[in-house]
Amino acid sequence: MDRAFQRTKILTNHLLLQSSDPPPSLSSNACLSYSAPEDSESGNYAFDIEEMRGLIDGHHVKERDWLFGLMMRSELFNPKVRGGKVFVSPDYEQSMEQQRELTMKRIEYLQGEGVFKGWLTEKEEEIVLRICAFLEVLSIFDHSINIKIGVHFFLWGGAIKHLGTKHHHDEWLRATENYTVKGCFAMTELGHGSNVRGIETVTTYDSNTGEFVINTPCESAQKYWIGGAANHATHAAVFSQLHINGTNQGVHAFVVQIRDADGNICPNIRIADCGHKIGLNGVDNGRIWFDNVRVPRENLLNAVANVSPDGQYTSPIKNPDQRFAASMAPLTGGRLNVSVNAVYQSKVGLAIAIRYALTRRAFSLKRNEPEVLLLDYPSHQRRLFPLVAKTYAMSFAANYLKMLYRTRTPESMKTMHVVSSSFKATFSWNNMQILQVCREACGGQGLKTENRVGHLKGEFDVQSTFEGDNTILMQQVSKALFAEYIAVRRRNKGFKALGLGHMNKNRPVIPSQLTSTALRCSEFQMDALCLRERDLLNRFAFDVSKCRAKGASAEQAFIMCYQLGEDLSRAFSERAIFQTFLEAEATLPAGSLKDVLGTLRSLYALNCTEDSSYIRYGYLSVDNGASVRREITRMCGELRPHALALVTSFGIPDAFLGPLAFNWVDANSWSSVEAKKFKSSICSYFFLNFLPQNKSSSRFHNGSSFPKNPDSNQSSTPILSAVATFIQRLFKLLSTGAFREQCIRRRGDEEAYRRAQRGGTGLAVRVDMGFVGNKFTWRSDLYFGSDDYRIKVSKIW
Ligand SMILES: Cc1cc2nc3c(=O)[nH]c(=O)nc-3n(C[C@H](O)[C@H](O)[C@H](O)COP(=O)(O)OP(=O)(O)OC[C@H]3O[C@@H](n4cnc5c(N)ncnc54)[C@H](O)[C@@H]3O)c2cc1C
Repeated sequence: MDRAFQRTKILTNHLLLQSSDPPPSLSSNACLSYSAPEDSESGNYAFDIEEMRGLIDGHHVKERDWLFGLMMRSELFNPKVRGGKVFVSPDYEQSMEQQRELTMKRIEYLQGEGVFKGWLTEKEEEIVLRICAFLEVLSIFDHSINIKIGVHFFLWGGAIKHLGTKHHHDEWLRATENYTVKGCFAMTELGHGSNVRGIETVTTYDSNTGEFVINTPCESAQKYWIGGAANHATHAAVFSQLHINGTNQGVHAFVVQIRDADGNICPNIRIADCGHKIGLNGVDNGRIWFDNVRVPRENLLNAVANVSPDGQYTSPIKNPDQRFAASMAPLTGGRLNVSVNAVYQSKVGLAIAIRYALTRRAFSLKRNEPEVLLLDYPSHQRRLFPLVAKTYAMSFAANYLKMLYRTRTPESMKTMHVVSSSFKATFSWNNMQILQVCREACGGQGLKTENRVGHLKGEFDVQSTFEGDNTILMQQVSKALFAEYIAVRRRNKGFKALGLGHMNKNRPVIPSQLTSTALRCSEFQMDALCLRERDLLNRFAFDVSKCRAKGASAEQAFIMCYQLGEDLSRAFSERAIFQTFLEAEATLPAGSLKDVLGTLRSLYALNCTEDSSYIRYGYLSVDNGASVRREITRMCGELRPHALALVTSFGIPDAFLGPLAFNWVDANSWSSVEAKKFKSSICSYFFLNFLPQNKSSSRFHNGSSFPKNPDSNQSSTPILSAVATFIQRLFKLLSTGAFREQCIRRRGDEEAYRRAQRGGTGLAVRVDMGFVGNKFTWRSDLYFGSDDYRIKVSKIW
């Protein structure tokens, strides 16, 4: 208590110090005045945004907010004040090595907070949605942290879990969850990426010692791009050709320790860095060479096949193709992670671009009239709203994919593979398109890294390549559809799997004159999407069969019919996504939420039918094509009043959106230039309760306990009077204009305040000490208030 009292007095004395006047800031009134979208958009939201968020997030909303809070609270997440708000985002001015170390430190912090508890040791169906929710939240902060965790848990952990057996689970799952083991996944080689079957690493078995011998026989066999290998990983799941008694049994996975607990590289292993990348530099991708590395026989992950001590190879899966497919099981989890995170990046981009478009004006229509808000231009609406609709559609599809993954069985593995491949490719392609449009919609500001949207393009570009190259994945989708088509025709039983039941019905007929009502009808929309899919499947099957009849191999035939295959896999994907939208909508009672979702659903469907394939293959007449186009424009206008609500429903805290989404005039003012010069070297937080309550436990922000008051009534008196004096002087200074003040309305930049608030009406103080040039200086940020009055004051002393 004495210490707290002393600190309050010191702070109060500081308030009396004469400080040099701050540099004059330009009044914004004469030029532009920023008006927050919440103030300028008319009235209340037409629907309940919390309900909408619940629907699109689908699960674990509270847990997500808890994790957002953990990040906002820690200095490790690089909080920065811009325009009076605190934003968290990685510091991309750091070197690659610094980014990697900080990513690891952030993971250790999250580990300490219990974020990963149960990820590998609880029953998968009970934990997997929570894992997905947390990875979504983490990717909103930074792709690197998501991928570094994803590789460790989904790829390395997934390999142990799905390709290993009890002995492997006992040895490595808990150790992985605790990060005593740091895992990586070594599949790709310099010479072979998409073509995993072609990898050249060779493993033989030495029955004299009961060991496998793993070797990199040539440069193209070096493991490449292995996330975690360059700096941190201690263990690797190594994929290799397994040669037994002179026979190549195909690709199998082995556990190899590559570093000891002190980080030293193990004998007979060489590791090099992949170097700087266009994004994702917080992940230490590395290359690995194995020089006849010996591992015990038990290190073969033997769920798919085993080798006996005397060197006999056995497998319950006799078909080598099926055995190979089973060995690829861990990739499904990684693909799920990529798919879902692509959706969240689109949300970040759109939330920033739309909030900016609601505050940025350009050109007056008439002299002396105010300039027009970007989002009031129909062309701007046309650029952004179809992408909002697409993002909503992807959210529902992502939730469906998560459920499919959670309830997967051996029987549903084919569906899981096809749907996850098509969604992964579609979502990540959509994400890049959305980020590009959002970047351009933000003009030059979109180029600034701190505004996030442009930078995310570099960060997420890799999504179309790793966890299965998109083009290759889409080829697999069309091949699977072809196989299903041939199987159904052979069995003569009707289509059922992969959502192809519509193939059993009559071919849908599109009316010759499409009215607005028809275009907005979900039956028409489904018909239009099914028509394209069934026709393309028929054409693809016909052309592939024709090539085969002329003597081409199956692979040659697919290669020759690639264009139809690409159109078909996109048609499958968009129809499957649309189906999930309809199902989500069907869960809602009539009302405003359902109405706005209906418009978004129609916009998504019509946007798909605007695709050139509809005219190319003649599913829509030119007139109907024009009607679709007109209807899309009309719907964009209808969504304009809901723009803010639609992106607020994404549930992304302000702190993760970047300055452009808020007061970008303030964020670029002269005073912000001054504030930026301040380099903090020491930082501490504490808070004081004005009205201590028994239930509240006072804590310093940095975690050390505030001395607990044994008798709050008595001993709080000196504190109260000290605080009262402090506030009095504070207000005096405020009135002299020596302070910048800002009312805080939004989550994100008030974490310290909220800590104070937990104990009732309170005061939170953050103090930074450091140097500006050679001059020692310190800065205090004070948060105080109650539920209806909140204020933040910053001052550089
Ligand atoms: C940042 C990053 C992290 C990674 N992390 C890991 C990791 O942790 N572990 C791991 O094992 N791997 C990892 N990878 C590797 C990744 O999985 C591969 O890059 C990916 O599988 C593609 O392989 P590739 O780069 O060799 O491209 P390629 O397979 O050579 O493909 C190059 C191009 O050719 C096209 N192409 C290839 N074959 C065909 C075909 N039959 N028909 C038509 N077009 C074709 C592809 O579409 C692509 O456009 C990572 C990669 C990156 C970039």
